[in-house]
This record gives sequence, structure tokens and C-alpha cells, in this order.
Amino acid sequence: MKRARVRFAPSPTGYLHVGNARTALFNWLFARRQDGTFILRIEDTDVERSTTEYDRKLMEDLRWLGLDWDEGPDVGGEFGPYRQSQRLDFYRAHAEKLLKEDKAYPCFCSPEELEQERQKALDAGQTPVYSGKCCGIPTEESTQRVAAGEEAVIRLRTPDEGIISFHDLVRGPLQFDLSLIGDPILVRSNGLPAYNYAVVVDDFLMAITHVIRGEDHIQNTPRQILTCRALGFDPPVFAHLSMVMGKDNTRLSKRHGATAVDQFDKEGILPSALFNYLALLGWAPPDGREVLTKDELIGLFRLEKVSRSSAIFDYDKLAWINRQYIKTLPSRTKAEYAFPHLKDAGLLPEKMSPGHWVWLEQVVEAFADKIDRFSQLPALFSSLFEFSLSTMDDDAKEILKERCSLEVIRSFSDKIARVENLDNEMFGLMAKEIKEDTGCKGKDLYHPLRVALTAKASGLELDKFIPIVEEGAKLVFPTPIKSCAQRVSETLAYIDR
Ligand code: GLU
Repeated sequence: MKRARVRFAPSPTGYLHVGNARTALFNWLFARRQDGTFILRIEDTDVERSTTEYDRKLMEDLRWLGLDWDEGPDVGGEFGPYRQSQRLDFYRAHAEKLLKEDKAYPCFCSPEELEQERQKALDAGQTPVYSGKCCGIPTEESTQRVAAGEEAVIRLRTPDEGIISFHDLVRGPLQFDLSLIGDPILVRSNGLPAYNYAVVVDDFLMAITHVIRGEDHIQNTPRQILTCRALGFDPPVFAHLSMVMGKDNTRLSKRHGATAVDQFDKEGILPSALFNYLALLGWAPPDGREVLTKDELIGLFRLEKVSRSSAIFDYDKLAWINRQYIKTLPSRTKAEYAFPHLKDAGLLPEKMSPGHWVWLEQVVEAFADKIDRFSQLPALFSSLFEFSLSTMDDDAKEILKERCSLEVIRSFSDKIARVENLDNEMFGLMAKEIKEDTGCKGKDLYHPLRVALTAKASGLELDKFIPIVEEGAKLVFPTPIKSCAQRVSETLAYIDR
């Protein structure tokens, strides 16, 4: 069997979205599993919509996701160039061959004329098919008209009736009625190749064995097979992946949430988690596991097992998988992922000292089990920076009105004012003494202590909170962190006011 050569062929007309990223990933897994070749080809012949910025960003996002390619615009390869805009000579040469062999012909119909024809068919409830008006023009005449500068496209001559069929690796046997397929345009009047044509020339010249792409291209496939036949090329094997939908069964769009890979990065989804989740969009390993390493995915992935039904993008499942991945990260890596979110929220300084990093690791660890994406951290962190008695919630106010509260806080304030470094051990001893002094215990003791330190009725466990705040109070932040002693004295002043 020939070694597999597959390609991901995005058009640089927008950001990489999850549907395309899944296509890229399935191609990649298919190639890696059988030691094949994964190729990146940029389909940039739509000059109006393609930009170099999207081109650059597509590659950046693919790399971020953890996909690498063996051949491509930046890494090169023996079948290059890998940008369609640099392959125009190939398309031209093959189109000339088809014209010479009378397998293609110039068509002079104007876009307005074609649009009228199309509209007429639609109004009559029929599938619009090119009428074939120009296919009978004698070669001599058409050559003269072209030479005289008349605008023309090049169309492929195709049979008017019959059936064209192929076996799709995902969808099984498929058939198309040729009477519903008009002669497709190969080359536009501006000389640029049409998608259906360029893709055939490239897939052949790049020795692509399998075309794995979205189901939205299924109607293009018979046209591409006809083009292959005219050029004398063996068509590749096709596999069309179902569309990615939202939970309401409509095509995944911004309405459902993030769709661009880049947005997931900004939200603090880890590339490894998104990689893992995308692999499960329409495929599942035989044992039904949901958290799998890249190597496990490569070992288990089978294109034949990919589902025909549409894949539902489940944001909650992705968040759950992300949570599993976050848990396994070393503290320093967690802190590095957290940093941009906290810096952008204005909570951390641009320039972090080694002391800041040690502190950040400790805090991110303390909150790690409360998040499923890093973008949730600023809200949790702000509880450390804010200590606002005037905006205290009702539960906290109620606690302050309790019989024991004033006494407990007064005693706490006396003791805390006398210590230099409050740590958990010291706090434990203090709590014991306060209990002896006041006779308050259990929640009568701990609830007011919590309110005095946090101005809230609930939050992080105090044994985590105290060291974080005490260490944080010694560091410089855009908004300073108040020490425990300062908080308790402010609380006492607030009660006594
Ligand atoms: N440029 C096409 C797209 O982005 C590629 C389709 C194909 O894989 O043939 O949809």
C-alpha cells in the first residue's frame, strides 16, 4: 500500500475555526497513525478575500493547537510551492492541455446572463445547471474571439447524463446524477483557477492519497472526479466529515459561543485540552475514554470509525476536559498560563519579580480546583485585592450582628496587632486563645474571624487565604493587598463606628 499523503487546505479568508481545526486534526491523526505525510496547502486564489494576515494566523493557530506539518509553505517540501497563488503555471499548463484535447472549452456567457438563467431555473423549482450554450462553438471561432480579447472562462466538458459514484470512507457509497451537474468552470476570466480545478491539479501533483475534508464539499467531489478523469488522474480516496453543530443542531456559529481557535486560547482553554476535545467530535475511542494523550489518540484513531451524524460541540464537555488538563500542570506552568489573564485585568504588574511568581504559583494552586479555564481567575483573585466593608453582602452583615462577633473581633484585633508574621500556626493559636477569652466556639468563632479578614461570609479556606494575603501584602501590585492586621483593625473600626 502507498504511504498516506494527506493535506489540510485552508483558504486564508478568516480565522481558524473549530470545524476546520477538527478537519486538520483528523488529517493529522490519520497521517501520524500510519507514518504518512501531513501537508499544509494554502488555497489563496480568492484574491479579494485572502490576506497575508489570515495566512500567518492560520499557521500560528495550527501550531498553537499542536499540529505540525511535514510539507508546507514555510517548511517547504519536494512538491511545492504550497501556496496556490504560486502555482498558477501548473494550472495554466493543464488547462491548455484540456483545451487542446477539446476536453474543455471557452465560455463567453456574461455573469449577468448566467445569473438570469440561474434565477429562471430557481423560479421554476429546478436545480440551476449551466445550459451548455458555448460548448458547441467551433474551436476556430472561439480561439479567434479569445484572441480578439473577448472575456471568457474555461469550462470542462462533462457528460449530460448518467451517474457518477464514489465510495466515501466515512459516508459509504455515494451517487450523483450527471444531468444535475453542468460543465464546471475551471479557469475564471481573470485567469485564476476555480477552486474545483486547482484542488484537483494540486492533489494530483502533490500525490495526495486521501482527501479528508468537511461535508460541505461533498457536492464538489463529482466535479473534481470528472476533472481528474479528463486529466487522466486517478482520484484520491475521499472522506467527508460531518459538520460541527451547536447543541440546537444548527451550524456552529458565534451565537453558540467561541468558534475561532484563537478565542479559546484567549479564554484560557489549554491547547492540549482543545486538541483532545476536537478529536472526540464525531469519533470516540473503543473504550469510551474521554481524556487521552496525543500518542493515545494517534494509536486509536480510525477514520472508518468516524460518525456520519453531525458532531455537536459541547462547551461544557470541553470545559470539563480543560479542568482535567489544568489539574495535571506543574504550579509554575499554571502560573504562566494565568499571568496574562491577571495582568490584563490590571491585577498583576507587567514586570513580575521572582517573589511575585512564587506568590502567584501559590495563589493559582489555591484556586485551581475552582476553575475550568484561566479566564475565570481574575474574578477569584479580585477577592484578595478587594476588602470593602461598605459593600459587604447581607450574610456578612448578619454575622457581624451576632452575639459573639464584636468580642471575637476585638480579641482578634488585640492579638494580631502584636504579631509580626501571621501564619497558619500562629492563627491556630490565636483562635484557641480567642475561644478561651470569649467562650465563643465553632461557627460563633470562625464566622466573625472570616468576615474580619475577608469582609465576606464565604470564600477560600482561611488556611489558604491567610498566607496568601500576608505574603501578598509585602509585594507591590497595581492595587495593594491589605494585610490581615489592617483588615481586622478596619473591621473593628467599622463595627464601632
Ligand atoms: N480551501 C477549501 C476550504 O477551505 C479546501 C477544501 C478541500 O479540502 O478540498 O474549504
